[in-house]
Amino acid sequence: MLNTSIEYLKGVGTSKADALKRELGIFTYLQLLQHYPFRYVDKTRFHKIKDIKDDSEYVQIKGILRRINSIGDGRKKRMTAVFRDETGSIELLWFKGLRWVQNLQVGAEYIVYGKPSTFNNRTNIVHPDITLLTEEKKKNAPTLDPVYHTTEKLKGKWLDTKGISTIMKNLFIKIHPHRHQIPEIIPAYLLERLRLPGRYTSLIGIHYPRDKAALDISKKRIKFEEFFFLQLRVLLSRQQKKTGIRGFVFKIIGDKFNDFYNNNLEFELTNAQKRVIKEIRIDLGSGHQMNRLLQGDVGSGKTIVAFMSLLIGIDNGFQTALMAPTEILAQQHLSSVKEMAEGLDLTIGLLTGTVKGKKRKYLLEQLEAGEIDILIGTHALIEDPVIFKNLGLVVVDEQHRFGVVQRARMWRKNVVNPPHILVMTATPIPRTLAMTAYGDLDVSVIDEMPPGRKPIKTFHKFESQRLWTFGQMKREIAKGHQVYIVYPLIEESEYEGLSEVKDLMVGYEVMLREFPRPEYQISIVHGRQKPADKKMEMDRFARGETQILMATTVIEVGVNVPNASMMIIENAERFGLAQLHQLRGRVGRGGGDAYCILMTGFKLSADGRFRMQTMVETTDGFKISEADLKLRGPGNIEGTQQSGVLNFKLADIVQDGEILRSARNIAKEILSEDPKLQKPENAPMLKYLNATRKTHGFGLIS
Ligand code: ADP
Ligand code: MG
Repeated sequence: MLNTSIEYLKGVGTSKADALKRELGIFTYLQLLQHYPFRYVDKTRFHKIKDIKDDSEYVQIKGILRRINSIGDGRKKRMTAVFRDETGSIELLWFKGLRWVQNLQVGAEYIVYGKPSTFNNRTNIVHPDITLLTEEKKKNAPTLDPVYHTTEKLKGKWLDTKGISTIMKNLFIKIHPHRHQIPEIIPAYLLERLRLPGRYTSLIGIHYPRDKAALDISKKRIKFEEFFFLQLRVLLSRQQKKTGIRGFVFKIIGDKFNDFYNNNLEFELTNAQKRVIKEIRIDLGSGHQMNRLLQGDVGSGKTIVAFMSLLIGIDNGFQTALMAPTEILAQQHLSSVKEMAEGLDLTIGLLTGTVKGKKRKYLLEQLEAGEIDILIGTHALIEDPVIFKNLGLVVVDEQHRFGVVQRARMWRKNVVNPPHILVMTATPIPRTLAMTAYGDLDVSVIDEMPPGRKPIKTFHKFESQRLWTFGQMKREIAKGHQVYIVYPLIEESEYEGLSEVKDLMVGYEVMLREFPRPEYQISIVHGRQKPADKKMEMDRFARGETQILMATTVIEVGVNVPNASMMIIENAERFGLAQLHQLRGRVGRGGGDAYCILMTGFKLSADGRFRMQTMVETTDGFKISEADLKLRGPGNIEGTQQSGVLNFKLADIVQDGEILRSARNIAKEILSEDPKLQKPENAPMLKYLNATRKTHGFGLIS
């Protein structure tokens, strides 16, 4: 019944049905039921007229209608009425529907609802909702009236919030006699344990709440349901990957790994790095495919961990790959991997969009023949013509740029035996997001910085304080250190639009005047340069031949120049928190004091101010990502858009973290006792998961 098409509902018909489908994606009864109110008009309490001010929010008052007057003529004609309760009186005002107003009964008791405003220096309510207080109305309990999202097009078809209320009511009238057939999807024992209402009761409770308490518990049930089934899906998917998909067994820790550890490693690994490598080793030896997310703040030393994992794969006779989000970062990885691999006798290849022609052809042949041990590249590496002889492990340096989709594609490279996957992210993911968008992965965290790191001193300065900034730059450069200056990208794509380069170029002119040659040398890097030029400028900076590197966000990810001690971010208000944090992480790798200066204009939105303040106050990546999530909501956090798992109707991973945690724990508990949901009491869940498999992905339930 709930899957019945919406046009069969009383009061809908084809034209309205079409509009509902197009505008709100509502095709079925169930989808209409899930069009939950986004707020409620509180009609459970009455205001006193003496308390009403012209800037009050919506008010509801009960009283007697007094005089009705008609004022003015023609187009200026309007009607007023005096409405009085025991505390005072207020004016009601109409410009339209005047004939109808004349039918109101002077002296009768009414309920008036509306938003107060000022007209002719008097507080009044324009076009109020006004209903006669009949004997029957007096008996009815007051309510929280639902307000529904709608669109201009729907309003044109009489589907404003009132219109939607009407068809919603029709729907409930239709399904109410059949309510016992509406399947409960959470088993009874769970509802009892959690003291949550049944499914139908909650639907009623959310569209027609008796009171605040009834509304809250109904919402809680629906939110729990949304989180709970997502958790079941991701946990089942993870369980299936673990047990269902066989993984290569990397049995040994071999020569290359030991050689590197004993001869090439220049420092002691942090305890966190050691712990994470152990977690990875256990995964790789388990016989199941590894799907692990490695979180670690910028500069926490993920690269070494990735490299040592690759060595385990190579020691066991497999090829490995390291995937980076940008060309520059791939280059950077290539040079640091080459350095780390010195003397280990490894063949390392680079595959990016700019490797073309003969070179590319030869590389692909080598790869297919199994002659390449480590292939480093951008996502060119997962395009179809790329064939490995025996790919055993892929490390994806995600930095929040690759989506879940790319990750999934990687597995298909070897159809029979998918490679192990290690995804690394530099911006810590808030716990709630890790549990949802990344919930199908195992998570390792490097929560410790290499010794000697000092927090980067961060300042927020306005354009008018630029001289101070120049002074700071000169001081750092005099100490033999280097400085980054980063400009925001205006255009979405690095290769379109001139404006990004314009800002940078104007800045460059200014810098040339302030930091003249030959005393100072400046590198400049942007998206419209040829890759070779870009590389040359970057290299000059990396070698210390230039003291200042000016760039658009191309250097956002992964660049590693330990001698750089100052990061200046221009128009910092245009960057999101995650990006700012990433950029700041480019400095302070040399062990000494490091600085970040955020330059903004005077005019800052509340949002912008909050971002600057957060950056100045903390260098803790987790705190910053929590703030970011609060500010932008989960849908806008990079890397989550494509995942499609965050499309909750009601639940909100920022507000409802508590419910999410409980849903996850209970889902875990149930699956540990009944991994395939085969116990009779769990049948409702299995049935629902299977029924929604097509629309909700993930759940590959056998
Ligand atoms: P990220 O996690 O941002 O990728 P990197 O792997 O680039 O960080 O490491 C940042 C810097 O810290 C590198 O120069 C690296 O050599 C150094 N490093 C990593 N681990 C340690 C350690 N245990 N002790 C000292 N320095 C380390
Ligand atoms: Mg890195």
